[in-house]
Amino acid sequence: MADVLLSKVRKNYNPAILKDTLRNINLDIKDGDFIVFVGPSGCGKSTLLRMIAGLEDITDGDLMIDGKRVNDVPPSERNIGMVFQSYALYPHMTVFENMAFGLKLKHMDKKEIIRRVVQAADVLGLEAFLERKPKALSGGQRQRVAIGRCIVQNPSVFLFDEPLSNLDAALRVKMRLEIAKLHKELNATIIYVTHDQVEAMTLADKICVLSPLKANAESNLEQFGSPLDLYNHPVNLFVAGFIGSPKMNFLKGEIQSIEEGKCVVKLITGERITAAVDASRAEVGAKVILGVRPEHLVSATSELADGGKVQGKVEVTENLGAEFFLYMNSGASEVGSDFTVKSDSELDVGPGDDFVVGIPSTACHLFDADGKAFPRTAVYKRS
Ligand code: ADP
Ligand code: MG
Repeated sequence: MADVLLSKVRKNYNPAILKDTLRNINLDIKDGDFIVFVGPSGCGKSTLLRMIAGLEDITDGDLMIDGKRVNDVPPSERNIGMVFQSYALYPHMTVFENMAFGLKLKHMDKKEIIRRVVQAADVLGLEAFLERKPKALSGGQRQRVAIGRCIVQNPSVFLFDEPLSNLDAALRVKMRLEIAKLHKELNATIIYVTHDQVEAMTLADKICVLSPLKANAESNLEQFGSPLDLYNHPVNLFVAGFIGSPKMNFLKGEIQSIEEGKCVVKLITGERITAAVDASRAEVGAKVILGVRPEHLVSATSELADGGKVQGKVEVTENLGAEFFLYMNSGASEVGSDFTVKSDSELDVGPGDDFVVGIPSTACHLFDADGKAFPRTAVYKRS
C-alpha cells in the first residue's frame, strides 16, 4: 500500500496550442485513503488518473508514489491496478482465467496464482462463478471480475475510472456498498473517478473537485477535502454549486452592513437576509452572492427563520413521497426560476401561487464578486 503525492502537476496534450488540460494540481494522498475525483465532463479526471497510472505523460511537476518520483517509471513497474468503465474481459476465457491472465504473463508460480485468484474470488463473492465465461454473468458480476483481475496483482494503489456508470441504478447501489466494503477489507489506497454525487459523498475519505481549466486560472483544482468539509465549507461558488443535490440556491445582492460574525445582505429584490459569515474583509455596498441549500430552508413562520425570508412565485412542485420539491422564481436568483425548496413533508401550494420561505442565518453561504467564499461563523444543522 502506498502514499501518492502530486506536486504542481500540469498536463498539456498539445503544446502547439498552449492550452493546458490540468494545471498546478497538488494532492497529498495518504496510504489507505479513499480519494474521489469529481468534476464536469471534460475537466481532466481521466487524464489525471491516467497520469498516475503512467498511461499518459506528465507535462510538468512531480508524481511520487511511496516517496519515489515515478514520472518516468513505466506503468508495469508502478504497481498500480486500474479498473475502467468498460471492463473488457476476454470472452473466450473463464472467470478464473480472466483473473489469472496477468499473473500468468508474469510467469508466476501456478500454486500462487490459484491462491490469489481464490482469495480474490472469496472477497468478491465470485467463488461459484470461477468456471463461467463472461457472457454467462450479470453486469455487476463482470465488473467484479474486472476488479478481481486488479486485486490479484496486489497493487499498492487502485485506480477506478467511473467503474459503475454502465450499471443500472439498483446495481450501482449494491456495487457501491461492495466497493466500500472492499476498501475496508483491503485497506488499500483507492483513487476513484465518478460523476455520481452519492458515490462521491459516501465512498470518499476526501474529495478532489476539478473544474474545466479557464485560460488564466492558476489551477483547476477547486478544493480537496472531506465530503462534509466540501458540503459545509465550499471555498467558492463552483464547489458550492457542484457538491450537493439539488444544487445550492444562489441569490444576487450587496452587503448592507457588516457586524462581528454576521453580515446583512440586501438582495436585488430588496429583501434583507442576515448571514452568519465573517465578511470583515469586504466593504459595505460590495456585490455578493448569497447561497442557501434547498434542504436548509424552513417555513417562513418558523423561529428558525432568523436570517430572513425570500418570496417568489411557484412554478413547479414535485412530490416524491419521502420528499417534496418546490421550484420558484424569486427574482433574485442567479438564473431565472432556479430557486429550489426541499421539504420533508408536502407543502400546500401549486404552480402560480405566491410562496414565502424562511432562511436560518446559519444556513447561509456568502461569496464575493470573484466567487470566493467568506468564512462561515456557524453551520446550520437540521433538527
Ligand atoms: P474527464 O475524464 O474529466 O471527462 P478527460 O480527462 O477525458 O476528462 O479529458 C480532459 C480534456 O482533455 C478534454 O478536453 C479532452 O478532450 C482532452 N483530451 C483527453 N484525451 C486527450 C488526448 N489523448 N489528446 C488530446 N486531448 C485529449
Ligand atoms: Mg473521464
